[in-house]
Amino acid sequence: MFSWFGKVSFVPYSKVADFAVHLKDGRLMGSLCKKCGYQTFPPRADCPECMSPDFSFQEYSGRGEIYTFTRTTAAPVGFDDIAPYTIIVVELEGGGRLVAWQGESLTEDDVRIGRPVQVVPRVWEKGEEIKVYYTAEQPGTTWNKAPAPHLG
Ligand SMILES: [Zn+2]
Repeated sequence: MFSWFGKVSFVPYSKVADFAVHLKDGRLMGSLCKKCGYQTFPPRADCPECMSPDFSFQEYSGRGEIYTFTRTTAAPVGFDDIAPYTIIVVELEGGGRLVAWQGESLTEDDVRIGRPVQVVPRVWEKGEEIKVYYTAEQPGTTWNKAPAPHLG
């Protein structure tokens, strides 16, 4: 399933491969350790706390707060046409962090450490390839999701 997102350099089988299926459906799924209850995003096949391989997927709301951010004005080649831009690290409710682009609903003044945000997964499908990125938006922002999945 990760091959949807382009070439991959790791083994073709992964216990967290369904993460890609859920993401394609617009769902942010972390992992919940069945042994010790540790929860994190992105999902981890083996618990970083107790090393148990037994986990279930846990849906995340995408709510969180800005952990840190950076504004880029002198962009690297390939990104120079979109500069200036802001990349935000979001600390998610439930545990874990992700990197998101500043969404259109946030102003430059909105982007400050500790501010609540809503993470929205953005999915582009082009042929067999799928590209996914996240944006940080105003709290309460919604997006389309596929019907509720069976959670393994
Ligand atoms: Zn654990």
